[in-house]
Amino acid sequence: MQQIQRHPYWWDDVAYKAAQRAKPAEQLPATVGTLVVGAGYSGLSAALTLARAGREVVVIDAQAIGFGCSARNGGNIGPSFHKLGMAGLTHAFGTTKAHALLHESMNTLQHLKNLIATENIDCGLHLNGKFSGAPSPRKYETAAREAELLNKAVGLEFEMVSQADQRNEIGSDRYHGGIVYPNDGHLHPGRYLAGLAERILAEGVRIFAPARMTGVKRDGKGFEVDVGGQTLRADQVLIATNGYSGPELPFFQKRVIPIRSAMIATEPLPAAIMNELSPKGRSFNEMSRVVLYFRPSPDKKRMVFGGRTFGQADRPNRYAPDLKRLMTRIFPQLNDTAITHAWSGTVAYTFDHTPHLGTHDGLHYAMGYCGSGVGRSTYFGHKAALKMLGSKDGKTELDGLEFPTRPFYTGNPWFLPAIIRWHSMMDRFGV
Ligand SMILES: Cc1cc2nc3c(=O)[nH]c(=O)nc-3n(C[C@H](O)[C@H](O)[C@H](O)COP(=O)(O)OP(=O)(O)OC[C@H]3O[C@@H](n4cnc5c(N)ncnc54)[C@H](O)[C@@H]3O)c2cc1C
Repeated sequence: MQQIQRHPYWWDDVAYKAAQRAKPAEQLPATVGTLVVGAGYSGLSAALTLARAGREVVVIDAQAIGFGCSARNGGNIGPSFHKLGMAGLTHAFGTTKAHALLHESMNTLQHLKNLIATENIDCGLHLNGKFSGAPSPRKYETAAREAELLNKAVGLEFEMVSQADQRNEIGSDRYHGGIVYPNDGHLHPGRYLAGLAERILAEGVRIFAPARMTGVKRDGKGFEVDVGGQTLRADQVLIATNGYSGPELPFFQKRVIPIRSAMIATEPLPAAIMNELSPKGRSFNEMSRVVLYFRPSPDKKRMVFGGRTFGQADRPNRYAPDLKRLMTRIFPQLNDTAITHAWSGTVAYTFDHTPHLGTHDGLHYAMGYCGSGVGRSTYFGHKAALKMLGSKDGKTELDGLEFPTRPFYTGNPWFLPAIIRWHSMMDRFGV
């Protein structure tokens, strides 16, 4: 295997590189109006709303702008429905609340599309729809029933695709048919992040990185924040650290489960191959328990492929060959294709499979998108900002939900490998 770049393919983009305009931590001011901790989509989306409302905003990131999931993800966008599905959601919340939550999921996608359009962010947005492949007839039937329910509940558009017709959607014979979601799409995650960063910098927001918040405590009406030995005072603080919430944020670390998700990008492929793999420019996922998601790159020259990994450490030497094997199981045409990039990041799962936003000890927060966060983080970051502004438009269907943890859980998901193995086995049986 040729030398593989161990950073996200997206980071090679000139726009992403140009947007890395953070100031050094030494230049942090002693007082700030609003401090946003975490320069991913949640933090940047919140900063945009706050700055446009006239707030003085400082954003800090422990590593770099977009170092977390936001410049590592697959860029697949859709309504990100709740992981429990219609039945689980109705069981947990009752019919009315379940429908309200599903409607809000639809809003997250619309909000993202509107934002990209109104801010004129050049981020390779393609709304060509997604094909979701069924690896067994049973998965096909179950997914068809679920899509029917979602269509009735919130008007989700979908088209069932038979096995005989699936070559019109995907250059693969692996599936027993699938579903097309025509309103889904994909974007360039690095360019989208860069666009958000450019917009907030233009509003006068200052971004500092690397600048890790190492402690925070209440101080009168505001907060005293420690950033690697420097102390600063902030009137309001937003925690937008998602799957990267560390021991300095024990309340949040105990409530998010960091799950490693990994991706590979292929070398540039001939146009004829790319047209065969994705004839309509669609993005893809497989209806498996251990999720697989893949898509053409924005320039339609490469396949970018992702899935879960077993360990918590970043081991591209292990997951790159694994992902390539899974990719060629779907697309045997890529057997001899080289992988140029392999990278991973940690998504934030939650114990109730639900994102959360609100306040804890006066700290505002938004996080826990359970691996589907491009639209959700943009939307809930914006909502968190509206809450900080005291606007009634900050109301969301997540308001008032308890943010659960589990006894003895402190942020180390030691149980994950066993759970992933179990789900992999179920996938092998097609259930
Ligand atoms: C490999 C991968 C593929 C994915 N694919 C998709 C996809 O296709 N579609 C989709 O919808 N979602 C996808 N996701 C999920 C999506 O990217 C995330 O849900 C979303 O980006 C979360 O944004 P965020 O701003 O909340 O968090 P992040 O982008 O993770 O940002 C959190 C930031 O907080 C910083 N931080 C942490 N602690 C501190 C501290 N103490 N002080 C200062 N800064 C701190 C971190 O350095 C980090 O930059 C994927 C994620 C991964 C990892």
